Amino acid sequence: MTAHDSGWSDGSPATPAVAEPGGIAGTAARPAPSVEMYDTTLRDGSQQVGLDLTVEDKLRVAAALDELGVDVVEGGWPGSNPKDKEFFARAGEIPWRNAKLAAFGATRRPNRSADGDPDLETLLVANTPIVTLVGKSWTLHVDEALRTTREENLAMIADSARFFVREGRRVVFDAEHFFDGYAADAGYALECLAAAAEAGADTLALCDTNGGTLPDDIVRIVRDVLGTFGGLRVGVHCHNDSACAVANSLVAVGEGATHVQGAANGYGERCGNADLFAVIAGLELKREHELLPPGRLGALAATAREIAELANLPFDAKQPYVGSSAFATKAGLHASAIARRPDAYSHVNPERVGNRAHVLVSELAGRSNVLVKAAEHRGYAFEAADASFELLVRRVAGRMPSWFDLEGYRVVIEKGSHTDRSEAIVRLLLGEQRVVAVGEGVGPVHALDQALRRALSELYPELASIHLVDYKVRILDGRDATSAVTRVMLTSADHEGEWTTVGVSDDIVTASWEALADGISYGLLRAGAVSLRASGTSPLIPA
Ligand SMILES: [Zn+2]
Repeated sequence: MTAHDSGWSDGSPATPAVAEPGGIAGTAARPAPSVEMYDTTLRDGSQQVGLDLTVEDKLRVAAALDELGVDVVEGGWPGSNPKDKEFFARAGEIPWRNAKLAAFGATRRPNRSADGDPDLETLLVANTPIVTLVGKSWTLHVDEALRTTREENLAMIADSARFFVREGRRVVFDAEHFFDGYAADAGYALECLAAAAEAGADTLALCDTNGGTLPDDIVRIVRDVLGTFGGLRVGVHCHNDSACAVANSLVAVGEGATHVQGAANGYGERCGNADLFAVIAGLELKREHELLPPGRLGALAATAREIAELANLPFDAKQPYVGSSAFATKAGLHASAIARRPDAYSHVNPERVGNRAHVLVSELAGRSNVLVKAAEHRGYAFEAADASFELLVRRVAGRMPSWFDLEGYRVVIEKGSHTDRSEAIVRLLLGEQRVVAVGEGVGPVHALDQALRRALSELYPELASIHLVDYKVRILDGRDATSAVTRVMLTSADHEGEWTTVGVSDDIVTASWEALADGISYGLLRAGAVSLRASGTSPLIPA
């Protein structure tokens, strides 16, 4: 579906080749100041209950954010855990295109020097162009949490900022609890900012750490700060405890803030951080800011979904702009009117953010799209399962080679007093030949993988370089355990890269088999293995 037959009056394509400032007709063409999008999914967002990313996951989330085109990716707090330390050590594996990497840490300890402070040293070793230092700006926290003098807190901020500026790093100062601090003692809160600024921090991020500030107070306080620190980049870091994190971020920018911190899909502890995607969409579509590289706004919905998959968290259908229900109106009475004038029923054209309007419109979009959509309904997640998606498209197009056909498998799970052991027997047809192989493993999936590999190894030596990297299981629609559907996402790799496949079934072993079989098939496709036959007449083009 193109924008031209969609009934949207703006007539703009979903992914314009050139950015379009002034998308709203009749708006004066004054260029908006450039606003920096700072993502903290991997640090603050990871505080969300139930969100536990491996280092591999973190690298993939960072790569997705970089590809979307955010300006800064905060990779974590290297001083707080070894996982974040490893992430920074491996961050060079990402082919960074758009984003700069930031490492997060606290100001030096009270009554010590910045030189030799072990936490600052760890931050330095993370070797990032940007260092984000969090410091106290609320007298209550200086007195009660830090238990030091207010003068010492100012010295801690200044010394730590100076330490990194001297090392050639760009310093962002996160003023923790700034809005509460400003309400309690505005003079002291501003002194904290001044300490950072005088020491060379180039960005002052005002944090609504408890998330209780309302938009009118944000406007007033951001205006005051800009009155004093107008020469620096001033930004906000808002939490959503009053359901105002996105609104607070938007009004701060309206007031002149040029730096917004947020997390993918609004992840974060308690009620979450500002949803960076909603902030980006709002500012780009409604306030003429150019935040992402040209054309990248159209990747917003897919990126949001991909990160939800990597986080192994359910994707909220009601999430503004990017959720599957964000533009879904119950058809019924309005169906023909929606088809004729979708702009009368949605606040923006969903294609601009890579979302879709409604199943009604999708039904016009051709057989393969409908098939994809039907599969999605069963819980397949193709944005994150790139390989399964490609295999599906190849099957639909009749361009899917075949390496093996399943005749059947049997899995025996043995529970012993000392060890658990599973055994799988896989029966395959390789052309005319019937092959039976047995595999043993620590669980049924491992045993199946072993048996499948054994059955195929002689015919396909390419398999030796393909291995499993990651395995994720999610129960979909868990309210009714008897009808629950299991989704398995499996990541495989060879020496050139990795790919993800998905399987969905009422039964976890069946779902795992689907993902395994797809994973192996895709690996063989990548390796250019000679197939038994190609379905259809099209010549096989390896990926
Ligand atoms: Zn925070």
